[in-house]
Amino acid sequence: MKDHLVRDTVPGMRGFDEITPNLVEEARRRHDCFPIPAAALGRTMTGALLLAANLKTDESITIRICGNGPIGQVIADARAGGSVRGYVSNPHVDLPLKGGKLDVGEAVGGGHIHITRFTGLKQPFTGTTELVSGEIAEDITNYLLASEQTPSSVGLGVLVSPDNQVIAAGGFLVQAFPDADDAVLAKVEDNIRRLAPVTAMVEQGLEAQDILAEVFAGLPLTLHEDRSELSFCCPCNQERIENVLIGLGEDELTNMIEEGRAEVRCHFCGEYYRFDKQHLSALRTRVAKVK
Ligand SMILES: [Zn+2]
Repeated sequence: MKDHLVRDTVPGMRGFDEITPNLVEEARRRHDCFPIPAAALGRTMTGALLLAANLKTDESITIRICGNGPIGQVIADARAGGSVRGYVSNPHVDLPLKGGKLDVGEAVGGGHIHITRFTGLKQPFTGTTELVSGEIAEDITNYLLASEQTPSSVGLGVLVSPDNQVIAAGGFLVQAFPDADDAVLAKVEDNIRRLAPVTAMVEQGLEAQDILAEVFAGLPLTLHEDRSELSFCCPCNQERIENVLIGLGEDELTNMIEEGRAEVRCHFCGEYYRFDKQHLSALRTRVAKVK
């Protein structure tokens, strides 16, 4: 099954659901994540894509989970078109299971969640709230209410197999419009309380539309968008990395030329860019020209 997104409404509410195992597995593989960092990163990337589903073309969103736990920061960037990239400071964290589950909350620790929206406005907007549990979904839900005054419910899940492969991942975001009827809110709240864990539903082969149908069970549902494709994608390339090196300046490039080579790794996707002496000398010439 391809990673995908659906968007539905019922009177007074809207909902998004995503199935994301392929892109989360790609991130896990690119960053060589152990299961807990894979789950933390996968949940954050899936959450960022859910928030990006509300954006206009060319807009994007960044989630930064900054806790004091061993995992360090978890960062995800998602674009309105359905692409996402992300990384975690320490992909090699391992902790004992908690109640049979990956202890993402302990690995993240206490701290803050920062969400930045890059919209058509000149200045991007960043909001910050305290982490509630470090389990990501609750932290995003609390952020949306406290920082953006949008009552929401977020569910996120990533299941990693014993041989360290992502076998299920996905999530939903449900938001109430100001005119939402109390009876509708109560019904959806009750449906979500009865819902199986996201990972269990994805593992059983449920598609995004099936999961939203359960979230909105008993209500007249309208499908607005079906099967937008989602993917892991980083816009880094040779030219951007060259510009970063040029930005380091002449002295730094001279050091690299003396070492004979340089290797730059993109934080977001793990891609390596390698530069030999000749290439570095050419870049140094361009610094001189910039001056
Ligand atoms: Zn990259």
